Amino acid sequence: MDFNLPEETIAVRDLVTEFSKKNIEPIAARIDKEELFPTQIFRELGRLGLLGLTVTEEYGGAGMNYLTEGVALEEISYYSGSFGLSYGAHNNLVVDNLFRNGNREQKERYLPGLVSGEKIGSLCLTEPGAGSDALGGMLTTYESRGEKYEINGSKTFITNAPVADVFLVYARSGKSYSAFILERNDGVETPKKIRKLGMKGSPTGEVVFRNVIVGKERILKGEGQGRNIIYQGLNAERAVLAFGPLGIARRALDEAISYSNQREQFGKKIGEFELIQEKLAYMFTRLESARLLAYKAAIMVGEKIADPSYAAASIMMASETATQIAKDALQIFGGYGYTEDYPLERLLRDAILYEIGAGTTEIRKVVIARSLLKR
Ligand SMILES: Cc1cc2nc3c(=O)[nH]c(=O)nc-3n(C[C@H](O)[C@H](O)[C@H](O)COP(=O)(O)OP(=O)(O)OC[C@H]3O[C@@H](n4cnc5c(N)ncnc54)[C@H](O)[C@@H]3O)c2cc1C
Repeated sequence: MDFNLPEETIAVRDLVTEFSKKNIEPIAARIDKEELFPTQIFRELGRLGLLGLTVTEEYGGAGMNYLTEGVALEEISYYSGSFGLSYGAHNNLVVDNLFRNGNREQKERYLPGLVSGEKIGSLCLTEPGAGSDALGGMLTTYESRGEKYEINGSKTFITNAPVADVFLVYARSGKSYSAFILERNDGVETPKKIRKLGMKGSPTGEVVFRNVIVGKERILKGEGQGRNIIYQGLNAERAVLAFGPLGIARRALDEAISYSNQREQFGKKIGEFELIQEKLAYMFTRLESARLLAYKAAIMVGEKIADPSYAAASIMMASETATQIAKDALQIFGGYGYTEDYPLERLLRDAILYEIGAGTTEIRKVVIARSLLKR
């Protein structure tokens, strides 16, 4: 057993930390308050090679593993949960997905722009009436029109949609599901940006397809492969996105430790009270446990171990942990934690998203239990 991160992962982590401290930390509160998506900073990440971490070098990527991608996401999320969410959606849901499932022409056409940050990606699965039951309830359709396909329907809650250039879209034709690579100028409309409780700097929107016509070359992996693409990608998606809430939780714990060492009541630092110490002890223990599971799940997915229980458990544990830690940290700050003058309320609002986005806590429990019962 080696609990040290590999050298290349440490190098990426340090690069992301240095970058985030300098570029994200100073505007993290503004990102939240002004619902700001800093496109220029996003492009800078591309210039540093941080957008295509799992993509091989021939398409401009870094050829690294899911663990490294997760560690990078944790660091960004430490500074801004919402920028982390947009980063994770672009990097994993779109870029890694295209890399795994695209043919050579598709990869050559789309990956370099997405990896450099010139283009921003969105994954469009959820619909107004199809969330947890994304496939069963799907109403977005595709129909064959000679050598082309026509796509109609709408998606909702789509991360990055308002700013995206490339949309990976799932649609159905009867019982057949396919994934399409669409571009904004194919006629994809993003009429509405959705206002949210948290993750305010990560633009979320509706996406509408009205008679969008594209050629066969836009189908990912072949017609009828949509279901496989979704199921094969879920493990990687869950394993990587689990690192987002870990970053938020770590930030909340650091804030709580620092405040416990400063704030005085009854003539003592509040960190001297055992009830505060108990909170800190639990926060630390929960965070470290969640991270160990996240490392394990990310390594397992990298080694193509198909068992879905680890990735689902990892993101469930990380997201519940983040909500709990952010809430405990806010409590340690007392009234100040409840104000917008400190980042605690933002951390809590951001943390809650990870219990809903990328599949809910309830669905993760279903996935874990089903997998265990099959053993
Ligand atoms: C900020 C944000 C960003 C998102 N980004 C994206 C994105 O980029 N792309 C994308 O495609 N989607 C995205 N989503 C959508 C997200 O994946 C869905 O919201 C999620 O899957 C839940 O679907 P729903 O909201 O329709 O809830 P529902 O499926 O309607 O669920 C409602 C409640 O019922 C519970 N429930 C449902 N089925 C079961 C069951 N079988 N057993 C027990 N309980 C159940 C749920 O857990 C939940 O508590 C995003 C969502 C948010 C909020």
